[in-house]
Amino acid sequence: MSMHKRPKNNKPDSSKIRQDKPRVRVEAISTPVASSTPSPPAYQRQFDFSATARAPEVTPLQRRNAHSPRVPMVMYTPEVWDQLWFIVGSCPQEVGWLGLVDTLPSGDYLITEIFVPEQTVHATETEIKPDAMTALAMELIDAGKDTNKLIYWGHSHVNMGVSPSGQDERQVDEYLANGCKTFIRGIYNKKGERKLDVFDQTNNLIFQCVRDRIYSPGLSPEQRAHLTQLIKANVKSPTRAFGNTSMSDLATRYANGYYVPPRNGLVDQRDDDDDAKEYFAHLSDPFYAGKP
Ligand SMILES: [Zn+2]
Repeated sequence: MSMHKRPKNNKPDSSKIRQDKPRVRVEAISTPVASSTPSPPAYQRQFDFSATARAPEVTPLQRRNAHSPRVPMVMYTPEVWDQLWFIVGSCPQEVGWLGLVDTLPSGDYLITEIFVPEQTVHATETEIKPDAMTALAMELIDAGKDTNKLIYWGHSHVNMGVSPSGQDERQVDEYLANGCKTFIRGIYNKKGERKLDVFDQTNNLIFQCVRDRIYSPGLSPEQRAHLTQLIKANVKSPTRAFGNTSMSDLATRYANGYYVPPRNGLVDQRDDDDDAKEYFAHLSDPFYAGKP
């Protein structure tokens, strides 16, 4: 019937097919075959691995109860931090230094003091000879310092990348062979790039490219509690407001099975309302005193 009203550019041969189409569709809708098939039970995973990495990585197959060692962080006292970047910045050669390290209760390392021993520097290499090491150790003992803490070696690659050279690998090998159970190697350059590696003989592990930063003592429990409270009070997701009624209020009003209207009626203040837009844009600003 309606087919006769279709434009003439329809092919005459297709008219018969078109007439059949609606019938097929009606049948498909009236017999919901797909929905009557019971869906299979959801697959329960036996392993909890996540194999989504796009770079080489070693992770446990079963993460539950797996012993994954905590990756330590290397920290510097503010003085050490300033000193090492001054050395890197002011030396045109590959200068090296050694440092005393405290192991913090968290398992992180804190470099407390650095020393620049006598050394022969080349354009691409630095060499701290055993004699110079011994001299430094004697100096530390005289000053009443624990030479067992001398487990950090840092050096500059000047303007080159911070990948270790063959010499850098051998140097760590020597320190470890000399009995250092833990050793930290830091390679830095004038661009501020660095590579910090922690060699752990006890656990037979190397933690490569660990995070490093200036040491700070961390927040007190009181400071944490105060910040948590402040965040809770001031940081909110924008909720769609109806008058003075948010969506959560609406949910409460509907919670008993019937709707209790708010006193000042349903007015959507958010859509196309410049004042409301400004208010929502300043939600996270504690000093904003605009009209809500
Ligand atoms: Zn090097």
